[in-house]
Amino acid sequence: MTSIQEKKWRLFFALWPSETERTALASWQPLLHELCDGRAMRPATLHVTLVFLGEVAESRLEALQLVAGEVDFQRFYLELLEAHYWGHNHIVYAAPEVVPSQLTSLVNELESKLLNHRFQFEQRPYKPHVTLLRNAKWSDTSLPRQSRVCWQVSDFVLVQSLSDEQGACYEVLARFSAKAD
Ligand code: ATP
Ligand code: MG
Repeated sequence: MTSIQEKKWRLFFALWPSETERTALASWQPLLHELCDGRAMRPATLHVTLVFLGEVAESRLEALQLVAGEVDFQRFYLELLEAHYWGHNHIVYAAPEVVPSQLTSLVNELESKLLNHRFQFEQRPYKPHVTLLRNAKWSDTSLPRQSRVCWQVSDFVLVQSLSDEQGACYEVLARFSAKAD
């Protein structure tokens, strides 16, 4: 008997910056690159991952969007001011000093709804961040403070992860809005 392998899509949920926030975050990169070397992520790829699903069967895409559409969350501000370095994966990233409670609730609700509908993903302690540089090198000392980015989050997105000759590239497939205030 021949079995036809179903097509799989590499997917993740993310916060996706508007042009204003994207430009503001990208403006951190030149100085950080000067200090830490490595490779600056293309501005068009900057994002905060919420849940990384990995390979999902094409036949589950519709269900996935329905599940995400059921997530009830409030809009919030994500304030970014600091860049940090992870020695274990050589990444320089932007992260909030305090994780907004609405972001924690959003991720918890999304994860719980996905699990209820038998979507699988690796559950790690959640550390929201925007990867700015890869293959970077820095010490234990703090990186200089950056100009404040005040990102108003009013939706999240489902993204397909692809790759081209410059590395990962992402395609936004769907958008899910916050509950009206
Ligand atoms: P590449 O892996 O091709 O170098 P990438 O890491 O940007 O590029 P993906 O691996 O598809 O692309 O990851 C998409 C997003 O999900 C990135 O923000 C990545 O950090 C995050 N991510 C990937 N794997 C996991 C994981 N197991 N848990 C949490 N987040 C993940
Ligand atoms: Mg990866």
